[in-house]
Amino acid sequence: MRDQGKGQPRPGAARAGKVQATRPEARFCMVCGGRMGKITEHGVRRSACTRCGFIAYRNPVPACGVLVRRGGAVLLARRAHEPRRDAWGIPAGFMEYGEHPETTAIREALEETGLRVKLTSLFGVYAGRDDPRTRAVLILYHARVTGGTLQAGDDASELGWFPLDHLPRPIAFRSHREALRDLRRMDRRQPRSRERSR
Ligand SMILES: [Zn+2]
Repeated sequence: MRDQGKGQPRPGAARAGKVQATRPEARFCMVCGGRMGKITEHGVRRSACTRCGFIAYRNPVPACGVLVRRGGAVLLARRAHEPRRDAWGIPAGFMEYGEHPETTAIREALEETGLRVKLTSLFGVYAGRDDPRTRAVLILYHARVTGGTLQAGDDASELGWFPLDHLPRPIAFRSHREALRDLRRMDRRQPRSRERSR
């Protein structure tokens, strides 16, 4: 994951290693510096500036990733940073503003695994509810390798091919566990699907 809150000390971080929320409730307006208050808009309580009216919408952040297969195995990356450092996950990362989800997935695959991939189809969309930085929406694609060299990089410390019946533990996030469970179910229903996605 490239941008927000990758767990490294940053300017303004309270303490090295502490995971900072990337969608916190702000006390002061990021536009004018006025004090933030609460409003109700369309039945939702939101923070809004008492001076200029700026509303701080708290939307989940989209993250995109790839399911790369080798036979019955799937490529997973071990997290190099907090949160959930050393836990395993599907290669994925947060979208940059203005980026297309497919571009994010391809970029994250290259950054974390060193592999150039082509997306073959959309796999699924999952709600990310247990990342301490922010609520997220995880968008996953099937992908096949077109080039590059397998090498852990960016936010990944290690890579591995794992059979779906022998996944490493722990898997970092619930959305990733749900996706891997669905992938295993799909493989059982259609054993040939993994051949097609290669
Ligand atoms: Zn303001």
